[in-house]
Amino acid sequence: MTSYQNIFVPPWMVSGKDPTKAESASASLLEPEAHEVHHDERKLYLESALLETLIIPLFENVNEICCTVSEFCTSSSCPDMNGPGMRLHPWYHEKGKKAKVSAPQYIDYVMTFIQNTIHDETMFPTKAANLFPSSFTIIVKKICELLFHVIAHLYENHFKEIVLLSLHAHLNCVFAHFVIFNENFQLVKKHETEILQDLAVAIKQNVSPQ
Ligand SMILES: [Zn+2]
Repeated sequence: MTSYQNIFVPPWMVSGKDPTKAESASASLLEPEAHEVHHDERKLYLESALLETLIIPLFENVNEICCTVSEFCTSSSCPDMNGPGMRLHPWYHEKGKKAKVSAPQYIDYVMTFIQNTIHDETMFPTKAANLFPSSFTIIVKKICELLFHVIAHLYENHFKEIVLLSLHAHLNCVFAHFVIFNENFQLVKKHETEILQDLAVAIKQNVSPQ
């Protein structure tokens, strides 16, 4: 089992120095700007650690639903990677080469890309000594966008089978996780998510405290 217990142990804590606390009153007076920089670093670290903690179960849950319905999502049933409103998603290979692929192929590329990314210590650090890359938020945004394409495809093309398998409550719960996560961190652009906006509103009403 992957160990994520260290992700909340920032490097400054391991070194025994908390940049948010002045080492001495004189140091604080002499170097106020240094303390501000450390405070920003700590804030960025905690936000990255939170993103990491939230994105991994979202990926695992979407992947699990895809595996369960994979027998219904084939290159003949789903020759295009589509979502509601006839939206089509080509796959962009490395170096930006665009390719039209079937939905199962697209989903396979998505899951492989995310699996490789979250297990790459340089991109998703789990060891206290490793720092988050400066592009970490961009990577999380990309993962969220890809997961949203998959969720939208599941709703548009496989909801009937998902209901038959009694997985609809699970899918709605996963989508609620995505909606709240995305609202808090502004990860996927509105023009992408608007296709499931009505559903997002309905789901939010259901999960809001009465
Ligand atoms: Zn499909």
